[in-house]
Amino acid sequence: MDEPLTPLEDVYARIAKAARIAGRDPASVELIAISKTHPAEAITPLIAQGQRVFGENRVQEAQVKWPELLEATPECSVHLVGQLQSNKADDAVALFDCIHSLDRTSLVKALAKAMDKAGRQVPCFVQVNIGEEEQKGGCAIAEVPALLAEARGAALPVIGLMCVPPLDLEPAPYFALLAKIAADNGLDRLSMGMSNDFETAVMLGATHVRVGSALFGARE
Ligand SMILES: *Cc1c(COP(=O)(O)O)cnc(C)c1O
Repeated sequence: MDEPLTPLEDVYARIAKAARIAGRDPASVELIAISKTHPAEAITPLIAQGQRVFGENRVQEAQVKWPELLEATPECSVHLVGQLQSNKADDAVALFDCIHSLDRTSLVKALAKAMDKAGRQVPCFVQVNIGEEEQKGGCAIAEVPALLAEARGAALPVIGLMCVPPLDLEPAPYFALLAKIAADNGLDRLSMGMSNDFETAVMLGATHVRVGSALFGARE
């Protein structure tokens, strides 16, 4: 009998399979291991297996967990995938290697200022409220061009679009819509797909998938 795959190997194999079906190079998809709520002891085994890209959704939690992990493995990068308050922009720019939640003009200004001050360019995704849900974070679809123009005006490095589709609905149409909005705006990176739908996202062009529970188990 073959050894069973670890969760990390399994997720990589599933990404590769979905990419091949879609005629894409599996290496064009970056797996971000979303380690929010999980302690450092749960993260180090993944680092030991070779995973280097992680994601957190809270600045404060990341500030507690990551300095020590980064000291031990400086090649790790940490992405912010949760809402960012403007008053935490300096902290976010200091700690994160990528920000997936740029969603409003006030944050464009705060991040541009923070990056200037730190002398550090942190690539950003504009988060789009793709299902036009009232309670959900993200920029309204109609406002994406204006927000991108603001970001370009402020010399913020925007590299793509990010979304979280509505819960309990078929995600494929939302992924396809995000891909179209990105193409219409000259952006080629797509942060989309989570534990339940990352293969669908890869088949529809995701360049960054954000996978938590499939790697770490269920959160509390
Ligand atoms: C928690 C979270 C994820 C990972 O979710 P899983 O379903 O555990 O894979 C991805 N993206 C964002 C924005 C998240 O907050």
